[in-house]
Amino acid sequence: MHNPQHDVLFEPVRIGPVTAKNRFYQVPHCTGLGWLRPKMAAALRGMKAEGGWGVVCTEWCSIHPASDDLPHPNAALWHDDHIKDQALMTQAVHDHDALAGVELWFGGARSANHYTRETAVDVASIPNLAGHPYQPRSMDKSDIREFRRWHREAALRAKEADFDIVYVYATHGYLLSHFLSAQTNTRTDEYGGSLENRTRLLRELIEDTKEAVGDRCAVAVRYSVGGDDGEAAELTAERRDRLEMLAELPDLWDININNYYQEMGVSRFFKEGSLEEYMSFVKSVTTRPVVTVGRFTSPDTMASQVRRGIVDFIGAARPSIADPFLPNKIHEGRADDIRECIGCNICYTGDGLGTPIRCTQNPTMGEEYRRNWHPEVVANRGSDAEVLIAGAGPAGMEAARMLGQRGYRVMLAEATRELGGRVAREAALPGLGEWIRVRDYRQQQIQKMTQVQVFLESELIADDVLATGADHVVIATGAHWRADGFGRSHPYPLETLNPASNILTPDDIMAGQLPSGPVVVYDDDSFYMGGLVAEKISLAGQAVTLVTPEDVVSDWCDYTSERFYVQKRLLELGVTLQTGHQLVSYDGQEVRIASGYTDQEQTLGANALVLVTARQPNDALYQALNERLGQDPPAGAPILHRIGDCDAPAIIAAAVYAGHRFARELDTNTDNRQQPRYE
Ligand code: ADP
Ligand code: SF4
Repeated sequence: MHNPQHDVLFEPVRIGPVTAKNRFYQVPHCTGLGWLRPKMAAALRGMKAEGGWGVVCTEWCSIHPASDDLPHPNAALWHDDHIKDQALMTQAVHDHDALAGVELWFGGARSANHYTRETAVDVASIPNLAGHPYQPRSMDKSDIREFRRWHREAALRAKEADFDIVYVYATHGYLLSHFLSAQTNTRTDEYGGSLENRTRLLRELIEDTKEAVGDRCAVAVRYSVGGDDGEAAELTAERRDRLEMLAELPDLWDININNYYQEMGVSRFFKEGSLEEYMSFVKSVTTRPVVTVGRFTSPDTMASQVRRGIVDFIGAARPSIADPFLPNKIHEGRADDIRECIGCNICYTGDGLGTPIRCTQNPTMGEEYRRNWHPEVVANRGSDAEVLIAGAGPAGMEAARMLGQRGYRVMLAEATRELGGRVAREAALPGLGEWIRVRDYRQQQIQKMTQVQVFLESELIADDVLATGADHVVIATGAHWRADGFGRSHPYPLETLNPASNILTPDDIMAGQLPSGPVVVYDDDSFYMGGLVAEKISLAGQAVTLVTPEDVVSDWCDYTSERFYVQKRLLELGVTLQTGHQLVSYDGQEVRIASGYTDQEQTLGANALVLVTARQPNDALYQALNERLGQDPPAGAPILHRIGDCDAPAIIAAAVYAGHRFARELDTNTDNRQQPRYE
């Protein structure tokens, strides 16, 4: 049974006309699914409910085609077909005795409506806040009346779809936040001017929604209390005044802050519970239940949040993605089995890419419907085969964990003294400490499995592999960073790099080989590694120039919502940033770079050049075995496989996924054809 200290987390909580069975509340979060993929979305949400979340919400759910967010896949309740789709979700959630919540949404000046081509409307004709060359129409009285009608009708559809909680969404830079703010609301009618007037539309929507569906559905308001994003003090103070004005009107307050990128910040820059300092006053001004997020993974922290009167519900998006069964595991006293979120925000990338969610820690996320994967349940082994895995990075460890869970006998051989591969190395980079959870979770699980044997300091060669007599051999030996200049901007080795000079790669930096003197970091990879390498060298007191062919630093980090903070950190450290330039040559003293626009060259004095370009699979062992076994394998020869970075270098989530998929599908007749279909 669970620790009595955690009893408080399993108390039922009343929310207006409905009651949540416990305090675990999956707040609205994007999935890259939305109205495009309702069956996938329903299965995903249903899995959270099965895992013990007392409340499970949708992603942002558009009330009308005048608010469309594609390519970011939002949910929708535009018409009756959408009721049917959303009912798939509520049914899946109700099947496990949880409440289903829907976050009704209207984007206003954030929606360019690329898909529907409807004209957006907002408090004024302000520029599109997502950077598109569109402005909304300034709402007149009839627009406001229409908008209220749309919202009311969507609420009624939500009720018909059997939702238990209906949101009025008043934050995150969407329409209502523009009405509330004295900065954007310049109206002179009864919806502008005084605090009361600017709050009018929000008040009306809460009242409309209560009147329409409040007999059976709770009405929640998602609301920002500010934060330290540079907002003027009087505007932040007003947020509290408004909350006091409306305190008892909704049935629940879902509280967040203005800065979305902090609220869902990566662990590199923001730690667990980072909203508490801003929102801790909320419960002192309302008797209604309060929820907020904080990437909580520790049950002790959660219980303390409730006991200290900060929140009534433990809100979570990412912790519920990394482990949909987090509540049940706490309930069963198995907190050690929780797959803790690492705060990498790979889950958020699907939103920007317009593709289904994926998670580094939980490879089954997003595959509940499509592949019928369950995060906790897997078929027993399909044979008595013994499996040898070479390499204990995220791919090899995940394969070992899953094969062990299925009951296979597994030998996991690792060349070095520690498990984890790239995760062990990368987690030692500045700010990435939480990433070690990828290894720790798997290590803890494997340790409990007698059928999985781990061999450290065991660098295998082909003869060793064949001598084990294993039936399957899985090569998971990872990849290394290239030192020859080959990369995206030069898909060929650069002959103009003097091989005798001080050329390093991220592998060298992570191994502790820090250069001195002026250093140039050439980032042709554009995800997190270039910025981290520059930061690490800079923290060691060396002058660093980061050169990248992209127009911004760490371009792909936009998808993980951290790009701004990466660039800010580098600028604060004094790293010189040279964007839009390609590497030309390095002779040991000078790095030559050329503008990608004008070809104009310049030189930078450098004692060392760090190349963050591309990675090369460590596939020598695979190739050697393939040669021996490939053409005409002798009787009893093992079946050879390769997974993870040794197969195709990619993100950690891809390596975990590859390991998981291999282990889950071994000895099964899986139909891997992915036909386009209604998902
Ligand atoms: P992935 O991300 O695909 O899991 P990693 O690079 O993180 O790959 O991990 C690969 C692991 O394989 C590293 O820990 C490395 O030490 C180990 N390794 C590499 N070659 C061998 C080998 N020949 N025998 C055993 N382990 C190996
Ligand atoms: Fe957490 Fe990363 Fe998974 Fe998102 S992808 S839930 S941040 S581990």
